[in-house]
Amino acid sequence: MTDATHPYDALMDITVRPKAVFVRGAGSYLWDDQRNRYLDFVQGWAVNALGHSPPAVAEALAAQAKRLLTPSPAFYNDTSLKLAKALVEQSCFDQVFFANSGAEANEGAIKLARKYGLKYKNGAHEIITFEGGFHGRTLATMSASGKKAFEPLFEPKVPGFRKARLNDIESVRQLISKSTVAVMLEPIQGEAGVWPATDEFLQELRALTQQFGLLLIVDEIQTGVGRTGKLFGYEHAGITPDIMTLGKGIGGGVPLAALLATENASCFEHGDQGGTFNGNPLMCAAGLAVLGQIGQPSFLKSVADTGQFLEGELQRLSARHGLGAIRGRGLLLALDLKMPIGAAIVAQAFAEGVLLNSPQSDALRFMPALNVTREEISLMIDCLDSVLTKVGAARRVA
Ligand code: PLP
Repeated sequence: MTDATHPYDALMDITVRPKAVFVRGAGSYLWDDQRNRYLDFVQGWAVNALGHSPPAVAEALAAQAKRLLTPSPAFYNDTSLKLAKALVEQSCFDQVFFANSGAEANEGAIKLARKYGLKYKNGAHEIITFEGGFHGRTLATMSASGKKAFEPLFEPKVPGFRKARLNDIESVRQLISKSTVAVMLEPIQGEAGVWPATDEFLQELRALTQQFGLLLIVDEIQTGVGRTGKLFGYEHAGITPDIMTLGKGIGGGVPLAALLATENASCFEHGDQGGTFNGNPLMCAAGLAVLGQIGQPSFLKSVADTGQFLEGELQRLSARHGLGAIRGRGLLLALDLKMPIGAAIVAQAFAEGVLLNSPQSDALRFMPALNVTREEISLMIDCLDSVLTKVGAARRVA
């Protein structure tokens, strides 16, 4: 055992983090151990769909923890059955496999597609994914991702992923061969900087995949569970995919993810898929509490309305500071900064008590709690306004 000089040193150093240590959260706010308060527009990277420690999730977890934690993944439990039923009733899918992270759900989707290829398409196994796409940090999901920074890492990658260009149907058509079994994409590329697939592109993709008998997989780990103002992002385009993955928001702050498939695509056989904690009732109880609120039409309408309010405020701010367009849908929006000042803005906003995210150096991404208030949005906009003025002034001096 090393003699760690500071509690930070006992954690693997996998990313740059501000030194603050967070100890409490409620709604749109977080507090650190020095009692500083932060207005949070990151929310665990679009995880806390109902804000920090929402009472509905806390109560559901407490009640479930007292009743049943984990019987075994080899037995049914009532809570996971209820959540699976709720998910299939509110989507176009017929069956669910629960997972513990988005990457694990996507690994499941990749395996399911390969199984489908083996069973029904002469062993076809290639999956067409997209430049800029992000599907997770396991080896297969890094290989499926089209993130440039991943390219040199952890070679050799898992083979079988070919990259097309988003919103370019010809680039997909050109990659289809006898080995292709599926096309996989995010309805909005989140980590790439909030780049939406257009509704027309998704419709063309659905038609193309149907023409060639390919599965269409939507990775809704960031866009699902109300984030875009509909329960699932694919609904905006009026299409029905074959496979969908959920993560982040479905657990409302706890590790829960899901792989959903239509009856036709749901082809795992015994022994193909499993996992110790998969479908454990504790996490599924949180999922039920989240879906109970977000699945309400009035809640989804309020997300769409609040998203429009945020978009309007960002447009005004952008015009005032000579910045670029707003991208995205609902409460997954990005502001194009037109210059690489994202990190400087995030750092200055942090110092002023507002948590922002810059997934690319020239963009800010906004992913607040889905029940964020207009007052909280206005507070964030006021702070960002002053931060942009300061960062702009500092750039002019430099
Ligand atoms: N897919 C998408 C679209 C994501 O945004 C993410 C996480 O950011 C993942 C997959 C990976 O999810 P997790 O970090 O829970 O493994």
